[in-house]
Amino acid sequence: MPQISVERLTKHYGTLVALDNVSLDIGSGEIFGLLGPNGAGKSTLLKTLVGILRPTSGTIRIDEIDIVVEPEKAKRMIGYLPENPSLYTGLTTLEFLQFVGKIRGVDDELLEREISESLKSFGLEEKRNSLLGSLSKGMKQKVALIATSLHNPEVLVLDEPLTALDPKTRVSVKDWIGARTKRGVTTILSTHDLDVAQSHAGRIAIIDHGKIVAVGDIESLRKMARAESDARLEDVFLRLTAEKGEDPILK
Ligand code: ADP
Ligand code: MG
Repeated sequence: MPQISVERLTKHYGTLVALDNVSLDIGSGEIFGLLGPNGAGKSTLLKTLVGILRPTSGTIRIDEIDIVVEPEKAKRMIGYLPENPSLYTGLTTLEFLQFVGKIRGVDDELLEREISESLKSFGLEEKRNSLLGSLSKGMKQKVALIATSLHNPEVLVLDEPLTALDPKTRVSVKDWIGARTKRGVTTILSTHDLDVAQSHAGRIAIIDHGKIVAVGDIESLRKMARAESDARLEDVFLRLTAEKGEDPILK
């Protein structure tokens, strides 16, 4: 049974069809990549998945719980990193994380331990009492990531977690996700960066104009695109998202 099941999901903004009949199954413990150009519908899909947006039609179930029918129950299982997380710049790192943990109902002792371990694993201990407004972009992103995970969610939904991060920070974020995968956490991450998808995700769904164009690991995506066995995801992606009429597969 998949942990996350998206069935025939459609989302309209007025007359704009942002998601068009999207179906996906994601298994427990997967790192699942959502890859597509700007405006493809990635953020809309993730916001609908975590219950921030209501679907126009279709269903989303997490461990069999329908996010529209039982949002509170489903949301407890999810940690969500928005595309542009807003941090309270006037709070210190510690104050912010304690605040988020309390809202999430995390037990005080557990919370202190989780905060200390997470700051340590990200090398942020010396920023514990610094104002968030004084942190670099990469540091802020790490704090935002820690905040998604304080209540120990089974599912992480991360919207472009690696965008605009330097290579070293990317590696530490990748390690952080990897450590959670080892504990059995399921991660969905969106990206418009092919290298990120190729190096961070097991299976990848390619999304374009609100539709899922292809789903699979890099090997099966290559096969779908009838690309060479050593083709980079970039070539596969271009083939799969080519406009009709200029389809390189048909040429
Ligand atoms: P992505 O995350 O892949 O860049 P989005 O999900 O943000 O794509 O956007 C998909 C489409 O929906 C785009 O055409 C975007 O302009 C539109 N869109 C996104 N949010 C809204 C909104 N709140 N109101 C109207 N249109 C929106
Ligand atoms: Mg987006």
